[in-house]
Amino acid sequence: MAEPILQTFNITKDFGKLRAVNQVNLDVKKGDIHAIIGPNGAGKSTFFNLITGYHKVTEGKVFYKGSEITPLPAYQRCQRGITRSFQITSIYPKLTVYESVLMGLLAHRRKTLTFFPSAKKFFKEEVWKILEDVGLANQANVLGESISHGDKKRLELAITLGTEPEILLLDEPTCGMSPEETESTMIFIRRLVNEKGLTILFTEHDMSVVFGIARRISVLHQGTLIADGTPEQVRNSEEVQRVYLGGVA
Ligand code: ADP
Ligand code: MG
Repeated sequence: MAEPILQTFNITKDFGKLRAVNQVNLDVKKGDIHAIIGPNGAGKSTFFNLITGYHKVTEGKVFYKGSEITPLPAYQRCQRGITRSFQITSIYPKLTVYESVLMGLLAHRRKTLTFFPSAKKFFKEEVWKILEDVGLANQANVLGESISHGDKKRLELAITLGTEPEILLLDEPTCGMSPEETESTMIFIRRLVNEKGLTILFTEHDMSVVFGIARRISVLHQGTLIADGTPEQVRNSEEVQRVYLGGVA
């Protein structure tokens, strides 16, 4: 549990004159459930974009499993096992739930399909397994646009699982969900960590979710990391209380 799977060294992102992420040093440990919190505009999504390679860093370095990945494009980081979901749900509205997950698998493993004739059958089993894992098997034939908001987020998670992640970055995974949907998603995320040995890095605005599931919490404020530790340490940090939690945690 002690070894870091992901490390950032002084990563910084400027958008023109705005510094969205400021000199952030962060270690994410393998198998951890690690939350990044902070008010709107704190730089959480941008920080994720720097890790996944969606944005280039202005300064600093990113290491994954001991190797520097800062120069790598997003798709190469994804091939190595770094996968993200977006804050705004991005699913295929006109495909069925089953087809959406299959698309994700095929896109990730194009090569396997070419060289391995029985791959389609293999994928079929795998799609069903993922659908069962995320609790969408009973909606396999429903169009993406017709399922509930919570199920869309779950579908997005299912599509990302098809890329065989080792670390999953979830940007507000329960955004817009009902309390019941939030709870079942959180239980599912915990199961992924326990059963598949995944590492989860997530952002979330609902503090009850964060303190209910995270084992480690890092707090961003105006792009700067102001606290990093166990939920207990973060809850008791005076600076966090002052700038952010304001007594809600
Ligand atoms: P959070 O996810 O914590 O709400 P963001 O990372 O989305 O914060 O945004 C951090 C800051 O960077 C905000 O001030 C936002 O307006 C700005 N920002 C984010 N993305 C871009 C972009 N592509 N171009 C310019 N400014 C951006
Ligand atoms: Mg965001």
